[in-house]
Amino acid sequence: MTDPVHLALGLRSGDRRALSKAITLVESSREDHREVASEILNELQSLGPRQGMRMGLSGVPGAGKSTFIDKLGVFLAEMGKSVAVLTIDPSSPLTGGSILGDKVRMERLARISGTFIRTSPSRNVLGGVSRYSRDCVFLCEQAGFDIIIVETIGVGQSEISAAEITDVFILLITPLGGDDLQGVKRGVMEVTDLVLVNKADGDLLASAHRTQADYSSALHLLRRRQKDPPGFPKVILVSALKGHGMDLAWNEISSLVQWRREHGFWEVSRREQEDRWFHAELRRELLSLVEQQPGVASLIQLLKEDVASGRISQRAALSNLANRISKSRAF
Ligand code: GDP
Repeated sequence: MTDPVHLALGLRSGDRRALSKAITLVESSREDHREVASEILNELQSLGPRQGMRMGLSGVPGAGKSTFIDKLGVFLAEMGKSVAVLTIDPSSPLTGGSILGDKVRMERLARISGTFIRTSPSRNVLGGVSRYSRDCVFLCEQAGFDIIIVETIGVGQSEISAAEITDVFILLITPLGGDDLQGVKRGVMEVTDLVLVNKADGDLLASAHRTQADYSSALHLLRRRQKDPPGFPKVILVSALKGHGMDLAWNEISSLVQWRREHGFWEVSRREQEDRWFHAELRRELLSLVEQQPGVASLIQLLKEDVASGRISQRAALSNLANRISKSRAF
C-alpha cells in the first residue's frame, strides 16, 4: 500500500516517479485510491505553498499544439526553466480510442531531462477537462515545476474549463482563409489572453496576417477586462515548425503574468478559481449524498416519469423531492 506521506515528500523533492504515481491515484476511480490521493493532497498542502505558472493552451486537432509546445518547452528549458505538460485527451466515448492515438508528440522536449509530459484521458467528461485535472496541476506545482502547460483539444467546452484552472490562457489557431473566425465561440474569446496564429510561414504567411487582423478586431469588440494591461488580449504570429516567435510569445505571456501579479489580479483570479472549484465539488458531494438516501433515487426516477408524462409540473416534482429529503434523518 502506498504511504501518502512518503509519496508526498518524494514528490516535493522532485521525484518524477512519485509525481506520476500521485497523478495516477488522483485520476483513479477506485475508492481506496481516491482516499490515498486525498491524503497526499492534504499532506502537500500542509508542506506549504509552491507556485508555478499555469498556462492553458487549446486548439483544434492539427493546429500545431504539440509542435508549438515542443518548441516553446525547449526554449524555456534552455532558459533554465522546468516544464510540465499535461495533455488532456478527449477519449472517444464510443470506441474508447483517442484523438491523439499513439503518435509520438513533443519528441525533443521529451528528451530533456527534468521535463514531465503526461497525457490523461478525459473519461467522457464534457470538454475534456476533468474534475481531477486541477489536482494534477497542483501536483506538478508541488513537484516544483516553473511552468505547467495544460493542453486541451478544442472541441467545445474544453477551452473554458482549461482557462478555469490556469493563470493564462492561449488559443492556437491556423491561418485559414475567410472571416468566419474558424468557428471560435464567443465564450472562448472571452477567456483568451493570447491568440497565436500558428503556421505563419511560407505560402500561409499572407493569410496569417489577415487572420491576425480579423481576430484583433474581434477581440476589440469584446468588453474590456479589468485584469488586462493595455493591448491585451493580443494576437501574434508564430511558426512552431520553424521555431519562429517563441521568444515573442514567451515575452507576451510572461509580461502579462507579471503585470497581473503586480496589480493583484493574479491572486484574485486564483482565489476565485479556488472558490468556484470548492462550490462545484460541494454541489457534487451533496448531490451524491442525497442520491444515496434510501428511496431517493427511485423517487427521482418516478418524479421524472411523472414530469415527462405531464402528470405533475417540474416545480411540484421538485418540491415533492425537497419535502422528502428534508424529512430524511440524514439531514
Ligand atoms: P496538434 O494536433 O495541434 O498537436 O498539431 P501538430 O503539432 O501535430 O501539427 C499538425 C501538423 O501541422 C503537422 O504536420 C505539423 O508538422 C504541422 N505544423 C505544425 N506547426 C506548423 C507551422 O508552424 N508551420 C507549418 N507549415 N506547419 C506546421
